[in-house]
Amino acid sequence: MDSAGGTGVKLRLLLVEDNPADVELILATLRKDGFDVSGDVAQNVDEFTARVHETNYDLILADYNLPQWKGTEALDILCRDNLDVPLILVTGYLGEEKAVEYIKQGAADCVLKDRLARLSSSVCTALEEKRLRAQRRQSEEALAQKVAELARSNAELEQFAYVASHDLQEPLRMIANYTQLLADRYRGKLDEQGDKYINYAVDGAVRMQALIQDLLKFSRVTTAQIEPRTIDSRAIVEQAMKNLQAAVKESGAIVNWNGLPTIVADPSQLTQVFQNLIANAIKFHGAEKPVVQIAAERKEHEWVFAVSDNGIGIPVESWQEIFVIFRRLHTRTEYAGNGIGLSICKKIIERHGGKIWIEAQTQPGSCFKFTLPTEPPVKATDGVRA
Ligand code: ADP
Repeated sequence: MDSAGGTGVKLRLLLVEDNPADVELILATLRKDGFDVSGDVAQNVDEFTARVHETNYDLILADYNLPQWKGTEALDILCRDNLDVPLILVTGYLGEEKAVEYIKQGAADCVLKDRLARLSSSVCTALEEKRLRAQRRQSEEALAQKVAELARSNAELEQFAYVASHDLQEPLRMIANYTQLLADRYRGKLDEQGDKYINYAVDGAVRMQALIQDLLKFSRVTTAQIEPRTIDSRAIVEQAMKNLQAAVKESGAIVNWNGLPTIVADPSQLTQVFQNLIANAIKFHGAEKPVVQIAAERKEHEWVFAVSDNGIGIPVESWQEIFVIFRRLHTRTEYAGNGIGLSICKKIIERHGGKIWIEAQTQPGSCFKFTLPTEPPVKATDGVRA
C-alpha cells in the first residue's frame, strides 16, 4: 500500500467524535487523499461497544476527550473484547507523554487536529500494521496446527511401535523355540549345509528377539509415567555402577565422580541414563583402560552433567545421528549392541525437560552432556502403558 495516500482504498471508519464539523473535516481530508471512505459516528460507550461488535471496521479514529467519556476508553474495550481494529487518536491537544502512554496502551498513532495533513499516512501505516499482524497470527495458527498434528502422529507412531513389538513377541518366541529345538534335535543328523542354515535361523531369531525387546524398552520409556523425586544424583550413579559391576570388573575401568548434586528426577529413569552412558564409555574404549569422569555444574536454572571417557571417540558428523534409535557406527562383531541406548537417554532427558548432546573435548575420547532443570516441568505423556 502507498503510505503517502490511499488511492482507491476502501475504508470503513468508526469515528468517536462529538463535533460534526470535525467529522466532516476528517472525512474530507481522507477523501482528498484518495480514500473511499464510509463510516459511522459513536458518541458514548454504549454506542461504541454496539457498533464495534456489529460492524467490521477497518479503522477507528477517536477524539481523546469527549464530554461524556474518554475516547481512550475505546482502547480498553477493544482489548477487553479481543478486537483487532487499529485506533488512531485524533485530538485537539495531547502532550507528548500522554501520546506515548496511549500508543503503549495500544493506539496505532496520535494525530493532532491542526496537523491533519499527516492523517492519511498514519492511516496507511495502521492498516499495513494490521495486515502484518493478521499475517503473523495466521502463520502462528498454522504452526500451532502443525505442531499439534506432529504430536498426534508421534503419539500414534509410539503406540504403533509398542503394539507391533508387543504382538510380535509371541510368534517370534515360537520361531526361536522351534528353530532351537530343530538345532538341538537334528544337529549332526543333516549335512553340513543343513546345520549351518539352522544356526543362521536360530541366530536371526535370537537377534530379532533382542531388537524387539529393545523396541519395547524404548516404547516403555516413552509411555511410562515419570515419577520425579528429590534425589541425590550420587546415589543414582552408584546404583548404575552396581548394575554395571560385571562390565567394570571385566574391563578394569576406572569411573570417577565428584560434586554430584541433589536433583529432582525419576530415579529409575535417571539410573538408566547414567547406566547407558557409562556402559558406552566402557564399551567403546581404545587401547588404554577405560577411564570415565562424571561431573556436574549448575548453570542458571539447570544442572549440566558431563560423562566423559578416553575411548575411541565419535566423528563430529555423527554427533546428531547416534541419538536416533538403532543408529550405530560399528558392526556387531566390532562392538556388541543394538543402537538403542542413546535414543533411550535422549527420550528420558527430554521428558525431564532437559537436552543431551556431545561436546568437543581437548583429550581423545567422547564427552556426553545433558541438562536437567533445577525445577523440572515434568509432565506425564499420554499413551499406552507398558
Ligand atoms: P549401542 O551402544 O547399542 O551401539 P547406543 O545408542 O548406546 O547403542 O550408541 C549408538 C552408537 O553411538 C554406538 O554404536 C557407538 O557407535 C556410538 N557411541 C555411543 N557412545 C559412545 C562412546 N562413549 N564412545 C564412542 N562411541 C560411542
